[in-house]
Amino acid sequence: MCVLQCTDSLGFICQACGVQHQHLQPAFHQTHPLQGGRMDNKSEIINRLRRSFQSGITISEEFRREQLSNLRSMIQENEEKILEALNKDLCKPKFEAILAEVDLVINELSYAIDNLQSWMQPEYVSKTLATSFDDCFVRREPLGVVLIIGTWNYPLLLLITPMVGAIAAGNCVVIKPSEVSAAVDLLIAELIPKYLSQDCYAVVSGGEDDSKALLQNRFDHILYTGSQDVARSILQAASVHLTPVTLELGGKCPCLIYGTVAIEIAARRLVWAKFFNAGQSCVAPDYVLCSKETRDALFPALCATLKEFYGKDPQASPDLCRIVSQRHWVRLTELLKKTNGTIIVGGESDPKEKYIAPTVVDVAEDDILMKKEIFGPILPIVTVESLEKAIDFVNNKEKPLALYVFSNESSVVDTVMKKTSSGGFCSNDGMIHMTLPGLPFGGVGSSGWGSYHGRWGFETFSHRRGCMLRGWGLEKLNGLRYPPYGDTRLSWLRWSATTKMCLLM
Ligand code: NAD
Repeated sequence: MCVLQCTDSLGFICQACGVQHQHLQPAFHQTHPLQGGRMDNKSEIINRLRRSFQSGITISEEFRREQLSNLRSMIQENEEKILEALNKDLCKPKFEAILAEVDLVINELSYAIDNLQSWMQPEYVSKTLATSFDDCFVRREPLGVVLIIGTWNYPLLLLITPMVGAIAAGNCVVIKPSEVSAAVDLLIAELIPKYLSQDCYAVVSGGEDDSKALLQNRFDHILYTGSQDVARSILQAASVHLTPVTLELGGKCPCLIYGTVAIEIAARRLVWAKFFNAGQSCVAPDYVLCSKETRDALFPALCATLKEFYGKDPQASPDLCRIVSQRHWVRLTELLKKTNGTIIVGGESDPKEKYIAPTVVDVAEDDILMKKEIFGPILPIVTVESLEKAIDFVNNKEKPLALYVFSNESSVVDTVMKKTSSGGFCSNDGMIHMTLPGLPFGGVGSSGWGSYHGRWGFETFSHRRGCMLRGWGLEKLNGLRYPPYGDTRLSWLRWSATTKMCLLM
């Protein structure tokens, strides 16, 4: 049991984790994140959140706005601690941590706070003559108690960004950080109860078993970010309660380079998008398809760019992340051992630091590097002569989370956009499209179901309730539907039931 010991009039110190929780009431004892992970009180936590939801406390705009502002203060006031934790877990450079975690989360929060009022407004729909005196609108209503399961590669971003949508939509939320990014997990578990209502929001820490135990409970929605294999277990668990699920998964994101290309700029943008976070990004370009001519120009450009970005010895560069765990380091170095491709640059690794050099490999279509998502700093380049064949190559695989095309020619960009399908699309750059809260972020097919970011997150965690408020008027017209039926009544009814009639009015 998590024992809280009173230290002074201001706070309690938890003997399980040694953290002093200032300003907390002894009630915190029940919601303690580590306890959530170690003990079987998950249903207690969910019941408490459900009671709060049923009390209606999360419904008002003021409450949602206050919680979102508190969450923003949490990130702003603890930026240093967040950067430290990200550095501990992934050796994440401060620059990358601020750009891709802290600032993206703050932007998402500010966007939601600024737009909350308009998102919550009823949406009026067009009417027929027979319903012309009625109020007909869509109400966005919260779903209830929702679960968000995060992963480790952007441990703050991928947990808090969906939470923003869930809070904005008026839900109570349980978040489950990834145990792999342990330092961020611990920090989030410590901070959330200090800043947000403990009656409405809870953190449950722990590993696979805790995640499975949590999933035995009924939630009103589950958003899962992670691998396709685990997604299958999530779906099985959700099916027991018929809980709707949003899946944010991965896959192999292609980058097609065809037609004339500004090769130096292309190399810089490709290297940045691929080796940011050491390639551990779900939207990192996984592989490149290009013609032989482009490949011959691209290789020296990639080598020069890598040297420019990370120096002669990338291991000494402070700007390169490390691989998150020994398991993933072994998986990636095994791939490098087994590839039949030619390593153009990189290939070095160091288990002590979980380091793998940014690596570019010239491979054939059926190489081991082309089988599964790489999720690390290895970039295979496949030579496919024509754009049409490259499009066929992509279309014969599962639909990716992101698809990139690099070309000076807008006809090439247009053709690729129209002839392929993917969660997101970006021309002449990588990953940038996911930084805009106006664009939905999510996969299609096996790369994911549903989307979030900005309004899309609010929609994901809302029920769109179709409402019609009727009075007693127009009874003559409405009465046309009552028996005894007749042809004249039917033709009047058909005429009055068309939406075109209303547009004319
Ligand atoms: P993972 O799927 O193993 O773990 C993610 C979460 O699931 C963790 O919180 C973990 O505790 C939990 N979990 C693990 N096994 C479970 C089980 N059997 N039942 C219930 N919960 C379980 O994480 P991973 O595979 O290392 O993540 C990498 C994958 O995530 C890649 O494929 C990547 O592309 C994808 N990803 C997708 C996005 C996106 O936004 N679409 C973002 C980041 C990563």
